[in-house]
Amino acid sequence: MDALMLDGNAVAGLLQEVFTVEMTTAIGTCGGCGATDAVGAVHVYRGAGFVLRCPHCDTALMKVVAAEGRVWMDCSGLRTLEVSV
Ligand SMILES: [Zn+2]
Repeated sequence: MDALMLDGNAVAGLLQEVFTVEMTTAIGTCGGCGATDAVGAVHVYRGAGFVLRCPHCDTALMKVVAAEGRVWMDCSGLRTLEVSV
């Protein structure tokens, strides 16, 4: 594990604010390799925002920036996101 890398639990609170459901157990499908995994298992890198990367192929699944009461999300690397409702 990279010293700068966190797991998906690091962004679970922020994602839960947006989606209002439990996010660590949400299942995402990677647009790069097609692997499915729980959000809690993704690799998270923090800079000006968060980059969630596929633990299998390193595709950037989501980019999330939160500032001034707003959240910007780029989910272009995520094929699907399955949540329990
Ligand atoms: Zn992948």
